[in-house]
Amino acid sequence: MYELIEGKPLSAQIRLEIAEKVKKFKEERNRDIGLAVVLVGEDPASQVYVRNKVKACEEVGIKSLAYYLPAETSQKELEELISSLAADDGVDGILVQLPLPAHLDSKSALKLIPTEKDVDGFSENNMGRLAMNMDCLVACTPNGVMKMLASKNISLKGKKAVVVGRSNIVGRPMALLLLNADATVTVCHSKTADLKKECLEADILVAAIGKPKFIKADMIKEGAVVIDVGVNRGADGKLCGDVDFENAKDKCSYITPVPGGVGPMTITMLMYNTYTAACRRK
Ligand code: NDP
Repeated sequence: MYELIEGKPLSAQIRLEIAEKVKKFKEERNRDIGLAVVLVGEDPASQVYVRNKVKACEEVGIKSLAYYLPAETSQKELEELISSLAADDGVDGILVQLPLPAHLDSKSALKLIPTEKDVDGFSENNMGRLAMNMDCLVACTPNGVMKMLASKNISLKGKKAVVVGRSNIVGRPMALLLLNADATVTVCHSKTADLKKECLEADILVAAIGKPKFIKADMIKEGAVVIDVGVNRGADGKLCGDVDFENAKDKCSYITPVPGGVGPMTITMLMYNTYTAACRRK
């Protein structure tokens, strides 16, 4: 019998804990914690994400500073804004909502975010530090997955973990976190020769692919822990993950649902990173 690892209740519990900590921080240091969120253009999905981030800030007592820039914003204008936020003492975290409009160079813009304010954890410094198992701000989605595993006391030491996907925002940092937690990690991607064989060896299987119901029941080892990061529209128009949940669930010891699994954890971990960034600043 499988057990669900649900993101919503865990996320709510962590947000309460963060709100307590933020309150204490404000009393002790007599200042707000500030998160600057920069959105360029009118992409509807990005607008929803930014709105949810602003709402989460309100919930935990973090001051959000949302900057809505028109789609035709120039590279220079964007970079001037990021530089001014970088220098602003009232700003603890800076987040540029991706993707940026095609005419903008996101790499060079993101480089202007100081490591200590990079609450998305995407910068070369934070990723490099993660790779070296050093203290850093960790990308929110994989960090949320680690909290989910910890919430069920799932031990990772010596376990075989397989991560399908190697993006800089999910798969790669996920693999590093699992490695840092003493799992034996295999990273799979679109060029992997025998994906099914690799997946069948996984005690912990993380799917971060972006293909609806791609991981089938016959790719899962009996009793595996399955974490589904994917958020897709299925053929029926409904939200679904990268794992064929209905057919796969009975082979798992634990599995995350979509929706209601990893998704709710991501913004909560952004709040956690913002609080952490504020604590680390002098
Ligand atoms: P990317 O498209 O950046 O990466 C997808 C990865 O999957 C790539 O590494 C790619 O390999 C690999 N892949 C693609 N096809 C195959 C295949 N046939 N076999 C094996 N590997 C394959 O996606 P993201 O990492 O950004 O996102 C992954 C999923 O997670 C998406 O559904 C996204 O919506 C979701 N997501 C959810 C979040 C949440 O909060 N829950 C947050 C972020 C993402 P290659 O490198 O070779 O191309």
